[in-house]
Amino acid sequence: MDPRSSLDTAKQTLLRVADRPDIVMESGHGMRLRDSEGREYLDYIGGWAVNCLGHSPAVISRAISSQARTLVNASPAFLNEPMLRFAEALVSQSALDRVFFMSIGAEANEGAIKLARKFGLKERGGATDIITTQGGFHGRTLATMAASGKPQWQTLFGQAVPGFRKALFGDIDSVRELADDGVCAVMVEPVQGEGGVNVAPLEFITGLRQLCDELGLLLILDEVQTGMGRTGKLFAHEHYGVVPDVLTLGKGIGGGFPLSAMLVGEDYDIFDPGDQGGTYTGQPLAMAAGLAVLETLVAPGFLEHVGEMSEYTARRLEELAATHEVTRVRGLGLLQAFDLEQSRGADVVKACLADGLIINSPKDATIRLMPPLIVEPDDVDEMVEILSRHLATR
Ligand SMILES: *Cc1c(COP(=O)(O)O)cnc(C)c1O
Repeated sequence: MDPRSSLDTAKQTLLRVADRPDIVMESGHGMRLRDSEGREYLDYIGGWAVNCLGHSPAVISRAISSQARTLVNASPAFLNEPMLRFAEALVSQSALDRVFFMSIGAEANEGAIKLARKFGLKERGGATDIITTQGGFHGRTLATMAASGKPQWQTLFGQAVPGFRKALFGDIDSVRELADDGVCAVMVEPVQGEGGVNVAPLEFITGLRQLCDELGLLLILDEVQTGMGRTGKLFAHEHYGVVPDVLTLGKGIGGGFPLSAMLVGEDYDIFDPGDQGGTYTGQPLAMAAGLAVLETLVAPGFLEHVGEMSEYTARRLEELAATHEVTRVRGLGLLQAFDLEQSRGADVVKACLADGLIINSPKDATIRLMPPLIVEPDDVDEMVEILSRHLATR
């Protein structure tokens, strides 16, 4: 198919939810994607912070294909072997005690919202409101859109799901002001990803933990983007020395296979049978992929590599800032961003794409980097080199 006819086919068959470029991706290996014309791209969105081990890693291919030969699906009515093995591995790597598996990040957050409401009904005199933050992102289901801090989403599909109060990200007093008797939980991302890579100050996350303990609220951390090694620790909350009551994971957890999870402390194992479920919970292929990813992430040296690449990237971006329109370099681990002098993020993204670099602009004047965690110094240098050709000089 030539690119034009691919776009025509897309137009005539796919629901139009995004205006995509004239490119059909065909294969991927490591840090690179290759399109149907044979052009190669250095991938700095990493499947949208998903392909933590890069494209088509042997460990995931092997895990999925071997599981596919044994058992593809046994139904959510039964336990299965990879589910038990992955649950045991994930729980033992985390500070939490119980896990429920799902397929996408929004679903994990829906689970967390349901659990918090159940907790509020049982333990907080019927309080079911949840404090979230302006600029936060929690997914695209109706409840998670309402939980997200995008003003335009509150009316996009008519009446929004009620029960979400928006505090200022990073401002503990603004959370305290909203935390009355109607509230059962606080839900935040340690680093707002879609919101432009806003790293929560240490005092914000430790302050939330204190406030939740003081008032008897659940602390829910949405680590769909920051979890699974992205920030140089297995979970971003480890940087803050704080353990949440509820933790949601997605994106990198399956390394590209649809998988998400909600973990809770033992005390919050409060669903009654029937309250929560899902056809694909504990899906064997997903469990096999998840286990393969986790074993790789916790192998000696892997997270140290993320830390080293994080420092190297930040240093290269700071160097670039001396000569080009790069300001406010920020981030945690391999979730980094910088601002441009003008609102031309979309133009920079387009120019880089044509030059073989896939990069993201979450806001008009912001560029975000979320490469596979296997990135090497040469890749960082190449990314900076390509970027520098499309940024204004000082
Ligand atoms: C991507 C993301 C989600 C939604 O995940 P989906 O798999 O797209 O449903 C939720 N929360 C955060 C922080 C995310 O980055």
